[in-house]
Amino acid sequence: MTSPLILRGLTKSYAGLQVVDGLDLELEPGRCHGLLGPNGAGKTTTLRLALGLIGADAGTVDLLGYPMPAEAALARRKVGVVPQIDSLDPDFTVRENLLTYGRYFGMKGREIEARIPYLLEFSGLAGKADAPINNLSGGMKRRLTLARALVNDPDLIFLDEPTTGLDPQARHLIWQGLRRLIGQGKTLLLTTHFMDEAERLCDVISVLDQGRVIVRGSPRELIKQHIEPHVVEIYGDGLAEWKTCASSLCKRCETAGETLFCYTDAPDKVVEELANQPGLRYLHRPANLEDVFLKLTGRDLRD
Ligand code: ADP
Repeated sequence: MTSPLILRGLTKSYAGLQVVDGLDLELEPGRCHGLLGPNGAGKTTTLRLALGLIGADAGTVDLLGYPMPAEAALARRKVGVVPQIDSLDPDFTVRENLLTYGRYFGMKGREIEARIPYLLEFSGLAGKADAPINNLSGGMKRRLTLARALVNDPDLIFLDEPTTGLDPQARHLIWQGLRRLIGQGKTLLLTTHFMDEAERLCDVISVLDQGRVIVRGSPRELIKQHIEPHVVEIYGDGLAEWKTCASSLCKRCETAGETLFCYTDAPDKVVEELANQPGLRYLHRPANLEDVFLKLTGRDLRD
């Protein structure tokens, strides 16, 4: 099957700053692809280039067989987009928002009306068709934005931080929807700052830093290749004194704020020693994608 999105040698700079730097990416159809990276890594710019909203300085974008940005209008009719910030029309009801959005795709009123019951059911908004947008909770608005992106039944969906700002319950509902789309064979390209979200949903993850892909693989592969399997997080009174002991017991130790992260193949030794330290509290857990992300991109703030 041909890839729905192929980026080759993509380059973009703003005011002399190389924001996207020779980026290659080829999406496998029917998979959920994650684009992760610290703030300013170039994720949103990459999505904008892929959609033909801006032109590249060099390199090529092939979106569903169309060269971008030359054929952007044609290609964009066939994709779904969930933007970072909801852009629902507050003067319209749920149904009116879906109708207006569908018309951008050249769909007829009848055609859109026929899809509305499915879209409302999909987004858990059945019974809300006539609700004004301002009566919806943040989670409902986000689910409506997702439903709206499906109005044209796209096979490729771009999702820019789909759950940012949502409470845990609302995030779970969005995840359920996204898993359903993956189950239907749709291709998803997702940016997120939530590593648990990426680990749960994505088949393949590309970690971006300074406009380049620094690693790519499934969440499981990335964890296996880049990080020790166990982490002991330690905090509390006497941590400073205990650090030397920790570094002799673990492969790698890192401090973030008031917490010491001990990465190790043999957590039992660390936990046994900690039993003699009443002032210290700890959490022993398997390593996860966030550990990989922090190891590869560092713990410094990027604003
Ligand atoms: P991310 O989505 O990974 O946080 P972005 O793609 O939004 O990163 O931004 C990458 C860099 O490009 C940032 O330094 C940002 O300030 C800069 N940038 C993005 N868009 C513009 C623009 N239109 N004009 C100038 N600088 C921009």
